[in-house]
Amino acid sequence: MTFSAWFQCIAGCAGRWSLTEIRYRCPTCGELLEVAHDLAALRAAHDGAGWRALFDARWRGPAFPDASGVWGKREVVAPHVRPEHIVTAAEGGSALLPVPGYARALGLGDVRVKQCGVSHTGSFKDLGMTVLVSTVKQMIADGAAIRAIACASTGDTSAALAAYGAAAGVPTVVILPAGKISTAQLVQPLANGALVLALDTDFDGCMAIVQELAEKEGVYLANSMNSLRLEGQKTVAMEIAQQLGWELPDWVVIPGGNLGNVSALEAGFRTMIELGMIDRAPRICVAQAANASPLYQAYRRGFASFAPVPAQTTLASAIQIGNPVSWKKAVRALERTDGVVAAASEAELADAAGRADRYGLFTCPHTGVALAALEQLTAAGTIAAGSRVVVVSTASGLKFADFKIGYHEARLAAVAAPRWRNQPVAVAARYADVRDALWRGLDAAA
Ligand SMILES: *Cc1c(COP(=O)(O)O)cnc(C)c1O
Ligand SMILES: [Zn+2]
Repeated sequence: MTFSAWFQCIAGCAGRWSLTEIRYRCPTCGELLEVAHDLAALRAAHDGAGWRALFDARWRGPAFPDASGVWGKREVVAPHVRPEHIVTAAEGGSALLPVPGYARALGLGDVRVKQCGVSHTGSFKDLGMTVLVSTVKQMIADGAAIRAIACASTGDTSAALAAYGAAAGVPTVVILPAGKISTAQLVQPLANGALVLALDTDFDGCMAIVQELAEKEGVYLANSMNSLRLEGQKTVAMEIAQQLGWELPDWVVIPGGNLGNVSALEAGFRTMIELGMIDRAPRICVAQAANASPLYQAYRRGFASFAPVPAQTTLASAIQIGNPVSWKKAVRALERTDGVVAAASEAELADAAGRADRYGLFTCPHTGVALAALEQLTAAGTIAAGSRVVVVSTASGLKFADFKIGYHEARLAAVAAPRWRNQPVAVAARYADVRDALWRGLDAAA
């Protein structure tokens, strides 16, 4: 059985384009494209229960390429990629971690954290990059003249692109805002041999230049305005449903920057509804850092207008974006899911991460933004007591060690009084001193 998918304009202009054609925008109106699938063919192949059973049978399975959560759902993700061109690092299939103590503390029925950062390059960007790089590898094999794949990045996109590009043997170029990403994020593309161009501007400045490079120099664009990536990322919604036994939570909270991922999430739920696998979508909350929150500001205006803002510095560096390329898709996703937008201050996001860590997590600052939003919405009653909530964790806390240690050493300028700080206790190497320190510490914590 073969299935087909194509690019189409999000504004509804006529036209369908091949997923292996180099095209990022509608030639008629200039809007972004989205990937659409031949639903009739998919429905003819299986009913909802059939698709659920197929995906369950493949879940993290040993047969290639089922170890990947993305390629285990290949028919509804990327039917155009022939198996020999799949470039995979067993992405997806990440844990949906229950945090019962945290849920109780917030008065919620259930809180689970979707650990998308536990992945080859340490962020959810792997989910989309496997689809994009596999597609390009196939295009090159079929004769396309593509010299390199390029992206602008706040760190995680470039790490994913460089890794998958190196695995595929395709040159990669990453364009970063100099000095605005973490050490781990910078070393990843360097290690994978990408051409790293560090520009004296912010993410939005890098994004403008890479779009021009794609247009004029023919490098293939790997940013999320390329909707191939969103097809891989939509499997997060499918995995959430699957890991809950095809039951849905009441809410999903997700941090948003360039706003591709929230539209991917909604597309994942919508695809499952269209295939009869589930019958409703959860409500979605997009969480933004207050310092870079154009979507939140538009939400406060009832989405009557959308205006880019200059992004101020935020600890949540991967979402320090003032001019999000996918804002229209995000608004549509929120309208379809009765969604809301929240914004977290620097202290709120850092303390929310610190608090959740006390229940065994080790969250990145972006996940902190989502957790802060969860706390706000729960306190306000928007998320009702007893609700079941999934928080999408977008990156590994290990990539943001400077943020984590800065918090506990109270060295973060934007977080004057970290509420959950924990410090090592210096003790002389003598038994009696250590014993006294032990009991003092345990009693203080009790
Ligand atoms: C890319 C990224 C985001 C934001 O995703 P968008 O699709 O740009 O909204 C959030 N968190 C982390 C860690 C990221 O790398
Ligand atoms: Zn159009």
